[in-house]
Amino acid sequence: MADRGILYLVATPIGNLEDMTFRAVRVLREADLIAAEDTRGSIRLLNHFEIHTPMTSYHEYNKVAKARTLVDKMLSGQTVACVTDAGTPGISDPGEVLVSMALDAGIQVVPVPGACAAVNALISSGQATGRFCFEAFLPAEKKERDAVLEELKEETRTIVLYEAPHRLEKTLQILLEALGDRSVSICRELTKKHEEIRRTTIAQALSHCQVQEPRGEYVLVIAGADRKELIARKQEAVRSELPLKEHMQQYLDRGMDRKEAMKAVAKERGMTKREVYALLLEEDAGSTDS
Ligand code: SAM
Repeated sequence: MADRGILYLVATPIGNLEDMTFRAVRVLREADLIAAEDTRGSIRLLNHFEIHTPMTSYHEYNKVAKARTLVDKMLSGQTVACVTDAGTPGISDPGEVLVSMALDAGIQVVPVPGACAAVNALISSGQATGRFCFEAFLPAEKKERDAVLEELKEETRTIVLYEAPHRLEKTLQILLEALGDRSVSICRELTKKHEEIRRTTIAQALSHCQVQEPRGEYVLVIAGADRKELIARKQEAVRSELPLKEHMQQYLDRGMDRKEAMKAVAKERGMTKREVYALLLEEDAGSTDS
C-alpha cells in the first residue's frame, strides 16, 4: 500500500500579493493537487507565482462529496494543498469539512500560516485583543440571528464579525438595536490600496454608511459587554423579582448556614449583610403581626 499523502492548508493573501509566504509557494508547487475554492480566482495567484500544479474545485456546494474524493487521493499517496478564495482555509469557508474527514481517515493535516482577515482586523482595531470571539457572518435567517444576538448581548470578549458591503448598513442597525451603541472598529479592504481602519461607535458607523455607500470587504470588531454593568443588571433583576426570604431559602437549601446565605444574598443584591438582616427581621415581624 502506498504511503498516505498529506493535506496542507495553505493561507493566501487577502489583497496584497506580497503577503504570500515562501513556504506557501513551495508547498503549492510541490503538491500533487491544489483544491481551490475559486479556481478562476486562484489561477491568477498561481500564474503570478509560477505555480503549475493541477487544480480542482472544492467549494461550499461540493464540500462533502469532493472531500471524499480528495481523501481517497490522499489515502493513495497524493499530497493535496487546500486554498480558499483568500486568507486562511477553514476560517469562514469550506476547509473545515475536508480537515475533519482527512483526520478521520488518519491523514496528516499541516497548516501553512498566512493572512487572515479576522486576526488582522482584530490586531489593528484598537479594541481589547486579550480575549475575543469570532462569529464570522451573522446568520441571514432572523430566528437564528436573534439567537446569536441574544448570546452576544452578554459576551464580554471582543466580537469579530465579517460582513459584505451590501449588508453592512442593515447589520449595523441590527447590532445597534441588540447591543446598544458600543465602540466598533470598521476595518475595510485590509492590505489593499483603500485600506481603512476607523474606530467609532455603532451609531456613528451607521450614519456614515447612510452618507457614503459601503464598498469593499469589511470586518467589524466590536467591544464586548462591560462585565460590571452586566453584574449590576443581573443584581437589579434579582432584586426586583425574588422576595428576600425565597432568595435566602435558595442558599439554605444548598446547604449553607444562615450566616453564609445572608452573605451570598447580600452580595447578589448589592446590599450589606446588616441590611439583609434588618429586612429579614422586618419581614418576620410583619408576618408575626398579621
Ligand atoms: N478565509 C478568509 C480569511 O481567512 O479571512 C475569510 C473568508 S470569508 C468567506 C470572506 C470575508 O472575509 C469577507 O466577506 C470579509 O468580511 C472578510 N475579508 C476578506 N478579505 C478582507 C479584506 N482584505 N479586508 C477586510 N475584510 C476582508
